[in-house]
Amino acid sequence: MISVSLTSILAYLMIVPLTVIMILWLYDSEKKYSRKAVPTRKVMCECEICLFHFTADKADKYVRCPRCKSLMERKVMRRRKGN
Ligand SMILES: [Zn+2]
Repeated sequence: MISVSLTSILAYLMIVPLTVIMILWLYDSEKKYSRKAVPTRKVMCECEICLFHFTADKADKYVRCPRCKSLMERKVMRRRKGN
């Protein structure tokens, strides 16, 4: 008969779940940092009338706001500094 002490059972019950959690955590962090930016033809625009943010094609000079349907010249949004 195999004799197992209470200490080794408790150690096993703690080490196995912690190891599984650590492996999943490492896998998730590796997956997060391996994401690469995908080149796109879209740029972020802001409507001058209703301040709605939307994406538009880089090639389009004039874009139409999807919310208020106003036609405007495409201006690329700049990121605000200091936030
Ligand atoms: Zn608008």
